[in-house]
Amino acid sequence: MARSPMWKELTAAEIRALADQDATVILPVASMEQHGPHLAVGVDTVLCEGICRLAAEAAQNDLPVIVAPTLWCGMAEHHMAYGGTFTFDIPTYRAVLMAFLKSIERHGFTKVLIVNGHGGNISALASFLGDFAVETKLKVRATTYFELAQAAIDPILEDQERIRHACEGETSLMMALAPDLVRHDKLSGAVGPARTTPLPLGVDRYRSFRSFSETGVVGDARKATKEKGDRLAAVCRDAIVAVLKDPEAWA
Ligand SMILES: [Zn+2]
Repeated sequence: MARSPMWKELTAAEIRALADQDATVILPVASMEQHGPHLAVGVDTVLCEGICRLAAEAAQNDLPVIVAPTLWCGMAEHHMAYGGTFTFDIPTYRAVLMAFLKSIERHGFTKVLIVNGHGGNISALASFLGDFAVETKLKVRATTYFELAQAAIDPILEDQERIRHACEGETSLMMALAPDLVRHDKLSGAVGPARTTPLPLGVDRYRSFRSFSETGVVGDARKATKEKGDRLAAVCRDAIVAVLKDPEAWA
C-alpha cells in the first residue's frame, strides 16, 4: 500500500525526508459551522481534508507532496446565529496561518498550496497573501477548491450552477466522503433560497446568513446523491492535482 500523504500520520523522520525532496505542502483551511438541519457542522473541514487527501494520493507517484493538518476554524461570524459554529476574528486568523506557515518553513519546505474549503475565508486569504510573501520565504499559493473546479462542477449539479451551502453539491459530497454525517431523515427540510440575495446597491454591508436563510441552507439538498458526490470529489481532486503539477502556478 502506498504511504499516507497526511502529515499527522507520518513520523518526524518521514516528514524531514519529504522536506529534503522539496515536497509541496498542501495546507487545507476550512471551518466549523452550521450546515442546515441535515449535515454535521464539520462539513467544510471533512470535505476540504478529504479532497486534499485524494489529490495528494493521486499526485504522490509523480511528485512529492504532503497534506498538513487541516485548520478547522475559519471566518464564520455569519453562521454564529444558528449555534454549533466557531469563528476567528481577522487578527487571530492571520496570526494562526502565519504560525503554521513559519512552522512549515522552518522544516525546510519551500512551497505551500493553501486549499480553502469555506466561502467565508476567501477574502481574508486573498488579503493575507502579501503578508505571507513578505514575512516568509515560502512560495505560498491559495485556492478555493470549489471555485478552482467550478467549470467541471457545474454540469454535475442539477439545479444550481455552483456550490452553495449545505446544498445539492455539499450534501452529495458528504454522501460520498462521510455518509455517516448525513441525517437522511432531515433531508426533506434541507431547502433554502436558491442563492444568496445580492445586495441592491453598490454598497457593501455585513449580513448574518440567517437574514436570508431560515434553515441555514442555500440551495436544495433534496437533489443530492452519492453518485454526484463521487463525481464532484473526482473533479475537485483533479483540479488540485493540476495546480500541483502546473509549473506556471509555481513560477
Ligand atoms: Zn460548507
